[in-house]
Amino acid sequence: MSLLRIHVLGSPVLRAETRAVTVFDSALRRLVDDMFDTMYAAKGIGLAAPQVGQLDRLAVIDVDDNPFAIVNPELVLEEGSARGEEGCLSIPEIFGDVERSSRVVVRAQTVDGVPFEVEGTELLGRCLQHEIDHLHGKLFLDYMSLLRRRSALSKWEKIKSDFPNSLRTVSVEPAEVADHGGEGL
Ligand code: ZN
Repeated sequence: MSLLRIHVLGSPVLRAETRAVTVFDSALRRLVDDMFDTMYAAKGIGLAAPQVGQLDRLAVIDVDDNPFAIVNPELVLEEGSARGEEGCLSIPEIFGDVERSSRVVVRAQTVDGVPFEVEGTELLGRCLQHEIDHLHGKLFLDYMSLLRRRSALSKWEKIKSDFPNSLRTVSVEPAEVADHGGEGL
């Protein structure tokens, strides 16, 4: 298991456009595995490649114990709208209400390059939209009103020094390691 460092707000990689994935090899599989490990260590439900400094068009998601990767995802259907609170592993401790489509269908490829479609409503729908935004340099802050964004950014100013070079290191807590060790007994 390999934990990656998470780029936080201020790192230019979060604002860059990604490149479509064209090679489905063991390096890609390893990146996806490491992204899952990193996401779980950070207690997240979604993580996109730019958040770990990779400009590959892919993300990992685990909502309701259903982990899967989306490679080269595209929104092919969006309908309705719903407001809900979001956070981001790249903007720790900042939360805000975001208006999203209430139902989406995403066309993507698996880590082996096999095409599939996934439908998402509620939290999964929100997560899919949030992660796909990351693949195009967009952050949830961009949807907030000017006033709310300003207040979020002033809060961020106070905590960003906790992340030198705009990097966040995550680790698995010793208690969790012990817990996992115990499961096999
Ligand atoms: Zn995010």
